[in-house]
Amino acid sequence: MDFALTEEQLMVKDMARRLAETEIKPVAAELDENHEHPAEIVKKMGELKLMGIAVPEEYGGGGMDNVSYVLALIEISKACASTGAIMSVNNSLYCYPVMAYGTHEQKMKYLPPVAGGEKTGCYALTEAGAGSDPSGLLTSAIQDGDEWIINGEKKFITSGNVASYAVVAALTEKGKGYKGISSFVMDLEKTPGFKVGRVEEKLGINASGTAELIFENARVPVDGLLGNKSEGFKQMLTTLDGGRVGIASQAVGIGRAVLDEALEYAKVREQFGKPITSFQAIQWKLADMATELDAAELMTLRAAWLEDNGKPYEKAAAMAKMYASDVTMRAAVEGVQILGGYGYCKEYPMERHMRDAKICQIYEGTNEIMRLVIANNLIKGK
Ligand SMILES: Cc1cc2nc3c(=O)[nH]c(=O)nc-3n(C[C@H](O)[C@H](O)[C@H](O)COP(=O)(O)OP(=O)(O)OC[C@H]3O[C@@H](n4cnc5c(N)ncnc54)[C@H](O)[C@@H]3O)c2cc1C
Repeated sequence: MDFALTEEQLMVKDMARRLAETEIKPVAAELDENHEHPAEIVKKMGELKLMGIAVPEEYGGGGMDNVSYVLALIEISKACASTGAIMSVNNSLYCYPVMAYGTHEQKMKYLPPVAGGEKTGCYALTEAGAGSDPSGLLTSAIQDGDEWIINGEKKFITSGNVASYAVVAALTEKGKGYKGISSFVMDLEKTPGFKVGRVEEKLGINASGTAELIFENARVPVDGLLGNKSEGFKQMLTTLDGGRVGIASQAVGIGRAVLDEALEYAKVREQFGKPITSFQAIQWKLADMATELDAAELMTLRAAWLEDNGKPYEKAAAMAKMYASDVTMRAAVEGVQILGGYGYCKEYPMERHMRDAKICQIYEGTNEIMRLVIANNLIKGK
């Protein structure tokens, strides 16, 4: 077994780390405080091919593998989890389904601006009544000549307030539950009948907007249908497998920031006349964090490697997402504890890490749903 990274993977990781340390980390607290979409940073990331890492160069992406994507996303999320969320959705939830299910013409039209970071992409599946169970979605798409007419409201859509492009799930056959779902790709700026609804106030990842998308007799060209009609649910399951590798990476990045900052603080903070690192209680917290984060990172890289090598990775992705987000949440709570009162205050970034970590246990399938996915795979002998 070879754990060594290729030259290209190392190069991407270093490039992402440099960008993260010099241009993202210094402004992360301000972006969080102002709930500001990091438009300039996203543009720069696009120029460096980080917004469409695995998109072939022909369609404006980086033409790299998913291991490179994981390595880069960990670095970006370590500096700013909100920017990590935007990057993850752009790559995994917008670019991937267009790449996997789009025709050459759709890829030429819908990938370059988003993979190049000029425009942002989003993925709209969730609705008020359809979260963990997307078969309850109500948004409909009815063909009318050379257009689809879309009606419905999507909820909690990452980057929905700033996105120019979207992949949207809608029912093309009512009464068939998940078997009637199809996916559509669209240019939101050229979709009459579309508007952004409420932008949520959240606990964390505040620089990443979370918005409602409202479609009222919205008209999408007939060629907006992604892949075949009624195959949206199958497409969604595969898209979310990759997305979960992204969320696992985001979690590992947040966890790495927690560990670095807790360690740095504990080495210099003195109580009872000694650095707090001399207390076994603190040492054990740091040791647990480091061990669990290494395990989470290895699981995440394994899932990406399986994907890159064309092997089944649904279970590995669910395990990585669940484990990485659970250990990062635990690490963040302990990180605040290690900093004591300072951990609870905004003078240090630790409280932000704790707020940001929580979402990784919820989106792209809650960790309860991850356990269902893992158990279903086990029962089927996969
Ligand atoms: C900040 C943010 C960003 C998001 N971004 C996007 C996005 O870009 N695109 C998008 O489409 N969606 C997005 N979502 C939606 C997100 O994926 C859903 O919130 C998530 O899947 C859970 O759905 P829900 O909130 O409706 O919870 P529910 O499904 O109502 O779940 C409530 C609780 O019940 C549990 N539960 C439900 N079913 C089961 C079961 N069968 N067994 C055991 N427990 C169960 C859940 O685990 C959870 O604890 C985002 C959400 C947030 C908060």
